[in-house]
Amino acid sequence: MKLLIVGGVAGGASAAARSRRLSEEAEIIMFERGPDVSFANCGLPYYIGGEIAEREKLLVTTPERLRSRFNLDVRTRTSVEAIDRTAKKVRVRDLASGKEYEESYDRLLLAPGAAPLRPSIPGIDLPGIFTLRNLQDVDRIKEAVDRGVEQAVVVGAGFIGLELVENFVQRGIATTVLELQDQVLPPFDKEMTTPILTALAAKGVAVLLGQSADGFEEASGGLVVRLKSGQRLAAQLVILGVGVRPENKLAVDAGLEVGPRGGIRVNEYLQTSDPDIYAVGDAIEVKDFVSGDPTQVPLAGPANRQGRIAADNIFGRSVKYRGTQGTAILGFFDHTAAMTGASEKGLRRANRPMQKVYVHPAHHAGYYPGAEQMTLKVLFHPESGKLLGAQAVGGAGVDKRIDVLAVAIQAGMTVFDLEEMELAYAPQYGSAKDPINMAGFVAAGLLRGDHPQVAVEAVMAGQVDRRPVLLDVRTPQEFSAGHIPGAMNIPVDELRSRLGELSRDREIAAYCQVGQRGYLATRILRQAGFSAANIGGGYKTYLLFHPPTT
Ligand code: FAD
Repeated sequence: MKLLIVGGVAGGASAAARSRRLSEEAEIIMFERGPDVSFANCGLPYYIGGEIAEREKLLVTTPERLRSRFNLDVRTRTSVEAIDRTAKKVRVRDLASGKEYEESYDRLLLAPGAAPLRPSIPGIDLPGIFTLRNLQDVDRIKEAVDRGVEQAVVVGAGFIGLELVENFVQRGIATTVLELQDQVLPPFDKEMTTPILTALAAKGVAVLLGQSADGFEEASGGLVVRLKSGQRLAAQLVILGVGVRPENKLAVDAGLEVGPRGGIRVNEYLQTSDPDIYAVGDAIEVKDFVSGDPTQVPLAGPANRQGRIAADNIFGRSVKYRGTQGTAILGFFDHTAAMTGASEKGLRRANRPMQKVYVHPAHHAGYYPGAEQMTLKVLFHPESGKLLGAQAVGGAGVDKRIDVLAVAIQAGMTVFDLEEMELAYAPQYGSAKDPINMAGFVAAGLLRGDHPQVAVEAVMAGQVDRRPVLLDVRTPQEFSAGHIPGAMNIPVDELRSRLGELSRDREIAAYCQVGQRGYLATRILRQAGFSAANIGGGYKTYLLFHPPTT
């Protein structure tokens, strides 16, 4: 077996190492256009900020190591230029010498990744405007930062954009973020990004939503970024983090099928439309694990796992790739935002039935010092309770809950399973009722009809005179510190004796801080004959949709 691999980083290097473990006899050649293989793309932003101090740490392995340990023929600075599927050959160019040659294959694996988008707007090629994909990019950006940058503009508030913002702030650079959408972290539901917006503001980062760059000009001491709005921003450094496009040229030129957004089409064995050619990683179209629809998800975990699976299949095993659920996480200073599976907006766009709950628990027992609060949103099917997606934002413990929910989604579990989940507990790690259990109790209770719930955004969307009575059941102190406009206040402990103050002719939307007292109030009201529902997630959820303006 002669296996050729195009691309030597996440997907390609995983496939190469796995292939060797499966076959000592195979001839395996891995081509990489750049000078490095298997480097830590995900660590690049932290090298700029200084958290990762040594450049070598970004090199997970070297060509020499891959040669000695795995007996791989690793050819760096070597680009595969074309595929001849009939002759089963590729045309290869040695970038150092410019020499071209051919290499034949029995099987070919494409792992060429995705290239950062560079929109064609005036001035885009001026010095000082960068994208970030590899070590050469990071060297250029770090060199500019080390020379001294006072102001930076990051175009695009996705994961990589915000990671760079954090590292620029660490370096004392005044940073502005532009984002075309009306929220940061576009894969998340908007309200779940409110705490990240607050954190950005607290770090002095200017965030311009619904804005995009219209052009770049040279100016004394740097650049001017022209915005569509007409605003002009001075900067010595601009980063474009507006997304990636699959590197599909080889595949397209060879007549392999690609999807509408350019991802190379593969079957569940990661075989392209040519059975002798496999493809993995950012370059491919995958099946969305939740919806089953084709999609593109450029993440390291899927690329690595796909590399392994493709190697298994190339070497005679029969392993299916289950699909990608888009489990992703961002650290921003002390904040963490993570998600898995479908988002609410994605489900609504696709017109798929869904229900949701918000809980705001502490990441471990509240009585133990250091408990940090998180907001956890769980999306599920309104009849079966099957889990569809989850998002969380907070500090410590967000990663663990999203990972648990990612596994639960993969296992096809329901909210009823979350009620029963037995998770590790000691006060410094969790709670006897873990946030996962809490989300399960609320969601399962909702499906059982124990406590009708109303979404705060649905309440607020109604005309003021048509809205239900907003009943705040917190203490007067909590009420006076901030409440939903138009709400009346009857603390839950006084509710039974003050029912006479409420009209039986109108719906009541009860709420408390996080939903628990509102739930109790709803039970009291309904048993007393009122038509009442609890505002899911309480005042804290209201604040996600209506953050206080400062
Ligand atoms: P790549 O890792 O991009 O490797 C493809 C390689 O193929 C490239 O080195 C390219 O030079 C080479 N190549 C392309 N065409 C040819 C050719 N014709 N001939 C020879 N070689 C070729 N993901 C996460 O899950 N978590 C994170 O925290 C995270 N952070 C990131 C931070 C940054 C700054 C970046 C850039 C990415 C980050 N990612 C993260 C995404 C993750 O790195 C990618 O999803 C993953 O690397 C994709 O693997 P891949 O093998 O498909 O492509």
